[in-house]
Amino acid sequence: MKPPDSGQFIGSLIGQCLGDAMGFPVEGQNYQVCRDYVRELIEEGPGLKARPGFVLGQYSDDSQLARELILSYVARKRFDPVDYAARIADLFSRGRVIGGGLSTWEAAIRLARGDPWDQAGAPSPSAGNGSAMRAGPIGLMFFDDFKSLVNAAQDQGMITHKDIRCSAGAVAIAGAVGLALEQKEIDSVNFLTEIAKLSAVIDPAAGTAFTALIDWVDLDPGEALKAIVLAGYAMGSMDNWQGLTPFVTGSVLWSLYSFLHTPHSFLDTMATAIEVGGDVDTTAAMAGAISGAYLGIENLPQNLAEHLTDQGEWGYEDLIQLAVTLYEIKVQLGISEPYP
Ligand SMILES: [Mg+2]
Repeated sequence: MKPPDSGQFIGSLIGQCLGDAMGFPVEGQNYQVCRDYVRELIEEGPGLKARPGFVLGQYSDDSQLARELILSYVARKRFDPVDYAARIADLFSRGRVIGGGLSTWEAAIRLARGDPWDQAGAPSPSAGNGSAMRAGPIGLMFFDDFKSLVNAAQDQGMITHKDIRCSAGAVAIAGAVGLALEQKEIDSVNFLTEIAKLSAVIDPAAGTAFTALIDWVDLDPGEALKAIVLAGYAMGSMDNWQGLTPFVTGSVLWSLYSFLHTPHSFLDTMATAIEVGGDVDTTAAMAGAISGAYLGIENLPQNLAEHLTDQGEWGYEDLIQLAVTLYEIKVQLGISEPYP
């Protein structure tokens, strides 16, 4: 165990946004398209390309909502679901959200018309990854208090998704970021055992899934995907999705796999997260948040991250400043309080 440094806080937010921006141009495409894209873009090419209709470096809803989560914490000096819910509703009602998922859209409409934060979320059996995709910052806020981490990850998720599988997925991503901050070397058995323990409190089946991943981490991506499909965690038949669907358990498993398979390389992790096909802006955003928290900003490709933007706002420097402010509140000033 070691105390995290500010470079890891920056790395997690930039890693999330950069993974998102790298996956966004091929979101929803099949394995073959994504595999070719990864080869051309990441293994041989420039690393980043614009999605038609968008500028280079545009990130999407996953990271917009993660950024808003940090902005809320900075404004309130604590995690406050009422404030965060208002920010989600505001972003949607101003038409600023890029590629928002249906459940989150509908929840934002309910929030905007006055539904309370803990009642607006999509009911079961809707179980998309919309609350897990933005949960990384909860790991930054509560890495030193895992009881608060679990409660806050669950509550930030409830705002848009009520299914316990969604809560467990959000806890897993927040927990992975929290654990990654403190590890000198990643031991995937301990890492996944810890995540399984945290998420099983909410959903025992999720605990089983994250424990099963221990046996798949060293497999090649094709074999690991097969194991996830055979175990029923990929939801291959969801609507018309090709590749990995937005089902929360499968996409969280794939993000954890992408990180744990190559913990020392951000770009290798991105290649794995994206080449699977399907909802790959989200798998890359979640894997990016974890990888960045572990590696720190100094081990992320700065030449790519410099292009990050959200419609001309909230670019690289602004995101760094936001992460530093969170770090100062959290670690230096030590004024954050437990979340009951
Ligand atoms: Mg997205």
